[in-house]
Amino acid sequence: MILLNGKEASAEIRAELNLRAAQFEREHGKKAGLAVVLIGNDPASEVYVRNKIRGCEETGIRSMTHRLPEETTMEEALALLAALSADRDVHGILVQLPLPAHLNAERLLEAIPPEKDVDGFLPENVGRLALKKEGTVACTPQGVMELLRRYHVPIAGKRAVVVGRSNIVGRPMAMLLLNADATVTVCHSKTENLKEECLRADLLVAAIGKAKFITADMVKEGAVVVDVGMNRDQDNKLCGDVDFDAVKEKAAYLTPVPGGVGPMTIAMLLKNTLDAAERIETQDNV
Ligand code: NDP
Repeated sequence: MILLNGKEASAEIRAELNLRAAQFEREHGKKAGLAVVLIGNDPASEVYVRNKIRGCEETGIRSMTHRLPEETTMEEALALLAALSADRDVHGILVQLPLPAHLNAERLLEAIPPEKDVDGFLPENVGRLALKKEGTVACTPQGVMELLRRYHVPIAGKRAVVVGRSNIVGRPMAMLLLNADATVTVCHSKTENLKEECLRADLLVAAIGKAKFITADMVKEGAVVVDVGMNRDQDNKLCGDVDFDAVKEKAAYLTPVPGGVGPMTIAMLLKNTLDAAERIETQDNV
């Protein structure tokens, strides 16, 4: 079994991004800028945001964190997003999800201009992906594709099965694989005979959110298995959606958790921010 090492691959990508960030600063006399909006006190979000900010610092991207209290109103949040949208030093805007329940996440996200949507969650960018047009692609599925590319895993013509159909992982993952000429099946909680569907996969992507849900009897001998899940097991240890120890005996390629898809996600956020900065500044100079 070959480990798809996202830690190593993301370190390579980040070294490349460091050079791009330095060149951007030389050319435009300012750093690429990412604004991170964190509303409320979700502890997991705190950790994700901290990692994203550290990633920016290490890459030479300026990050600006806006922390708003749990009781923030829609008007207050929209006012902040309007200011960030108009700010010429902000090239990317990221609203950390989940938001407090009283806020309308969809309306807030749609206040971000598509060119600053570094998460690739806006309908404009999702639509571009669906139409196979250039646009900003959600970080996690983009990170999966990049990891597979760096390990020269063949995709065209292969049978890919994605378990999970969320807007941030499963759906864009399926579209990317389709765009890369895989034959794609998307499974979810209503899928009948999930095991049989998974067993047909040359490439199996698990994005479910259930610890060790994909067991060895669901994996074809020699399959490529990508584990997007980030869960805690009964001992509170970080684990994926795939039963790593058992599946590693059958898979040809497998991502670990941690150290697989997670670091690739952050690398793609940094890449999306630099892409956005370059696009915005170049447009402004035309
Ligand atoms: P969601 O909860 O939004 O989606 C989970 C999906 O899994 C749904 O489509 C759901 O189906 C499906 N599902 C749930 N139970 C079953 C089941 N028994 N059989 C088949 N399908 C099932 O999760 P996300 O997509 O946001 O995240 C998935 C996982 O990935 C989580 O562990 C999350 O922490 C992790 N994650 C990791 C990231 C990283 O950077 N590594 C980034 C983002 C997420 P249905 O639609 O029918 O409800």
